[in-house]
Amino acid sequence: MRLLEERIRREALVVLPDVLRVDMFLNHLIDAELLDEIGAEFARIFADEVGRITKILTVEASGIAIACAAARHFGVPVLFAKKGAGNKTLDKDVYCSSVFSFTKEAVSTVSVARRFLRPGERVLVIDDFLANGAAARGLLDIIDQADAELAGIGIVIEKGFQPGGTVLRAQGVRVESLALIKSMSEGRVTFAESEAALAL
Ligand code: 5GP
Repeated sequence: MRLLEERIRREALVVLPDVLRVDMFLNHLIDAELLDEIGAEFARIFADEVGRITKILTVEASGIAIACAAARHFGVPVLFAKKGAGNKTLDKDVYCSSVFSFTKEAVSTVSVARRFLRPGERVLVIDDFLANGAAARGLLDIIDQADAELAGIGIVIEKGFQPGGTVLRAQGVRVESLALIKSMSEGRVTFAESEAALAL
């Protein structure tokens, strides 16, 4: 997605060799116009899933706004996994998974109320970043526990030099990213056109 790539080139900050900050337009201060374009792009890529998926699943907090922008095009609700065990605002009857957070370097529990995800549902997973794939695996685990079906994973920014995307695709999961980063160094982000181009 050219618009997104340009925005990353112009504004995003490489703060560590493998960490990109996009809090100036995506996951702290949010550019709602860009978010609308992102939602529309997910709908274009997953057009074959319109009318098939029953829910979009994401994880709090950064995934929520993005998932909502996409969900308007699919006409389905957004379900977000809540972080932290024993949340008093959450049902007792939940699916749980443990996720190692790439940015916080700690394991956290993510939970989804059973009554909001039923067997046989078809689910599209949406998130802001794909790095090592732990967040995605946690959500896939919850979909499995619910006996629901995975339609695919839509990611805004995939860091292709980390293994998450490659591993998930090798397992047969449909992973679609709007911006695929081949490499990054201070002041420079290089994109790949496709997963195949990562190796070139
Ligand atoms: P993974 O679980 O695939 O290793 O990492 C994905 C999760 O970690 C995403 O939900 C995202 O919030 C966070 N994350 C991973 N890499 C980055 C990054 O470079 N920048 C930011 N802002 N978040 C990241």
